[in-house]
Amino acid sequence: MVTYVYDFVEGDRSRSDLLGGKGANLAEMTRLGLPVPPGFTITTDACRAYLADGRVPLRLFDEVNAHLREIEVRLDRRLGDPHDPLLLAVRSGGRYSMPGMMETILDIGLNDTTVAGLAARSGDERFAWDSYRRLIQMFGRTVHGVPAEEFERELASVRAAAGPDGPDAAALRELVETYKKVFAAHVGQDFPQAPHAQLYSAIRAVFSSWNAERAVLYRHREHIPDDLGTAVNVMAMVFGNLGPDSGTGVAFTRDPATGAPGVYGDYLRDAQGEDVVAGIRNTVPLAELERIDPVSFRELKRIMGVLERHYRDLCDVEFTIERGRLWMLQTRVGKRTPAAAFTIAAQLVDEGLITLDEALHRVDGAQLARLMFPAFDLAAAPPPLATGVGASPGAAVGRVVFDSAAAVAADGPVILVRAETNPDDLPGMIAARGVLTSRGGKTSHAAVVARGMGRTCVCGAEALRIDPAGDAFTVGDRVVRAGELISIDGTTGNVYPGEVPVVPSPVARHLAGEPVGREDRLVAAVDRLLAHADAARRLGVRANADTPADARRARAFGAAGIGLCRTEHMFLGARRELVERLILADDPAELTAALDALLPLQRADFVDILAAMDGVPVTVRLLDPPLHEFLPPLHELTARVARAEARGEDPGRDAALLAAVRRMHETNPMLGLRGVRLGLVVPGLFAMQVRAVAEAAAQRVRDGGDPRPEIMVPLVADVRELTVVRAEVQAVLATVPDVPPIPVGTMVEIPRAALTAGDLARAAQFFSFGTNDLTQTTWAFSRDDVEGSFFDTYQERGIFGVSPFETIDATGVGRLVRLATAEGRATRGDLTVGVCGEHGGDPDSVAFFADAGLDYVSCSPYRVPIARLAAGRAAV
Ligand code: PEP
Ligand code: MG
Repeated sequence: MVTYVYDFVEGDRSRSDLLGGKGANLAEMTRLGLPVPPGFTITTDACRAYLADGRVPLRLFDEVNAHLREIEVRLDRRLGDPHDPLLLAVRSGGRYSMPGMMETILDIGLNDTTVAGLAARSGDERFAWDSYRRLIQMFGRTVHGVPAEEFERELASVRAAAGPDGPDAAALRELVETYKKVFAAHVGQDFPQAPHAQLYSAIRAVFSSWNAERAVLYRHREHIPDDLGTAVNVMAMVFGNLGPDSGTGVAFTRDPATGAPGVYGDYLRDAQGEDVVAGIRNTVPLAELERIDPVSFRELKRIMGVLERHYRDLCDVEFTIERGRLWMLQTRVGKRTPAAAFTIAAQLVDEGLITLDEALHRVDGAQLARLMFPAFDLAAAPPPLATGVGASPGAAVGRVVFDSAAAVAADGPVILVRAETNPDDLPGMIAARGVLTSRGGKTSHAAVVARGMGRTCVCGAEALRIDPAGDAFTVGDRVVRAGELISIDGTTGNVYPGEVPVVPSPVARHLAGEPVGREDRLVAAVDRLLAHADAARRLGVRANADTPADARRARAFGAAGIGLCRTEHMFLGARRELVERLILADDPAELTAALDALLPLQRADFVDILAAMDGVPVTVRLLDPPLHEFLPPLHELTARVARAEARGEDPGRDAALLAAVRRMHETNPMLGLRGVRLGLVVPGLFAMQVRAVAEAAAQRVRDGGDPRPEIMVPLVADVRELTVVRAEVQAVLATVPDVPPIPVGTMVEIPRAALTAGDLARAAQFFSFGTNDLTQTTWAFSRDDVEGSFFDTYQERGIFGVSPFETIDATGVGRLVRLATAEGRATRGDLTVGVCGEHGGDPDSVAFFADAGLDYVSCSPYRVPIARLAAGRAAV
């Protein structure tokens, strides 16, 4: 028989699939003997069953009732007891945290009778009526979709009429009557008085909130599967709003922004938990709690220490103090910025809590990529307009918008400016470069969500007064209107007027070998983890580089050679004219002359690149793109020729070029005369390139260098193509004195090449997977047209989570990679196999290539450290 409900004493953190993250960790804290209010978790199985057919599974509420009775016995208090009612909190909690996306209903069990019992027990009538109005509001909104503003309006008018201490018990009692009318008017029935009925409806509503629009949007963005469902946690209420010796807060065992040790967080006196996360009232730093309630503060610190040692990681917690007694409401391994991730991982190694191998798994390539983003050039920045809390790092510049819809509709980069954000702002937060709020701390909705998705965020910039009409904000007498540019620094919390220039990040500069000046904790942590990754990895990392400057940069970033030197970029600029001459050549002598003119230029390119990569391989790819890509576009030539003719002039060379463009036109150039086909059709072209490489290498040898060039043939589909070209290559190499051995290999970027890899390896000394073309040709997706077209639909409809051009499609394209590697090596045991498509710098793809047993990946210079890290992670 399936069990749908687990008491907190029954679960543990390993069962988050079933109990959700929150439920599993509540159970874990309960097992650790920490002060968790009694409660139970309804499983994700139950939610999935409910979502499948809209009915709660049979027996679910029987199980709920049985567990509820246990809580009643333990606390000696009953749900619905008119004298001393048990009240319940019902909270969602899926496998992955989705902050603020789903529902919570507090104070379940209050009704017209029990409210008096609560007042009597707490000795606080005002508190009791306030709790009742909160219940009607949350229940109305969550269970029946009553618009929050309907309640907020009534609350605001009661607050406005009240004195400085806020509304008294009588006013709140009246407000409850008004709320009940609002409820009845919207729902068509009275607010339910039966506590069990309230509980059952709340459970159903939490199940349903899994499919709320914003939750679905969040999941798609974060690549969380749609079919997991949420668990529901039902817990005895504890109250942070019982006066000045009560309160609620959120805390981290280390600073989630920088990783600095110590206990960080926000505390709100005389408030209920949701008030903190909502960022509605300004909190005080947790350090204040030491003054307000030293006993609870010490206990909290002790518990945080227990949690950090137990989880061996940064934890965050939500807690409530009810009249001087501390209760833990939630913990989890906390989200953190990329900087904090590296710093904390290194610290935990120093503290002996984790090994270096484990530390590698606490960071990832995407985080390192973010650390390499540029930062503001502080020397060029004006004085800040305002300073808030640096809640999610980054340097964001954009035009001010004041609501989510405007952010979504905007053309260029925008900064979303709000008093505080709520879950409805999610689309705007996704669309904006950065988020700026005037209220809320590091744990406010804006901060948590922005950090989770890597958006720059400054929150709680209290000097900002946002115009109620929503088209400007003021700071002192300075007015900033919608559409004006501002710059926000998510590390320092500074808000600047206008556009502040950006400079490379210290981590990027350090990794590129520049001195960064200060002995930075973060830089040291990055170094240490990268060094460990390098020691552990079996996968080599080369770079895609086709200029000497790129080659030098790549080497500084730790590239062990060049895996792809595209030669087409060497045919651009001033040399285009020589290429035109080559194309227009109508006799062999003219063709040879054109090639001879290109030869010394190519040779000089290679000399410098080989010098920058002395002692390591440089894989030079022979020309790949269709030649007509080097000619002016058809419409431009047509216009030029027509203008000349209209003026009665001879269009000369333009007429010949136009004829050539027309002659060479292809409907599908990507499938046309390119790659190896060019080499076979244009006599002398590849021979010239090979000669340039060979002569450059020979010169480097004579200069005392150690050049290691390799020749790579693109777009091969059949071994016979390669055999012919290879014979030509070898014939050229044989004529160049002093040339070192130069291996000849092929790209594998067409399915037929992969499928016949065993044959190909007879003619190829190495393979390099061109996964850009291999993805294009395997899926039949034009790589130049898909992004922004039907790919969005494919992602929305769950055909794939990420573009297969970004992360390797392991099941399809990846299968070809595995097959070709195995069959190639079966023919030639010492075949070197690499990858040089964009996937070579994508962390998830790197993990795949490591698993497939490739020898190296090759990626753009900036991604070299990211690939090194990812390769290290794949090895430990
Ligand atoms: C590839 O196809 O993956 C590749 C590296 O070559 P290009 O991107 O130049 O076609
Ligand atoms: Mg290609």
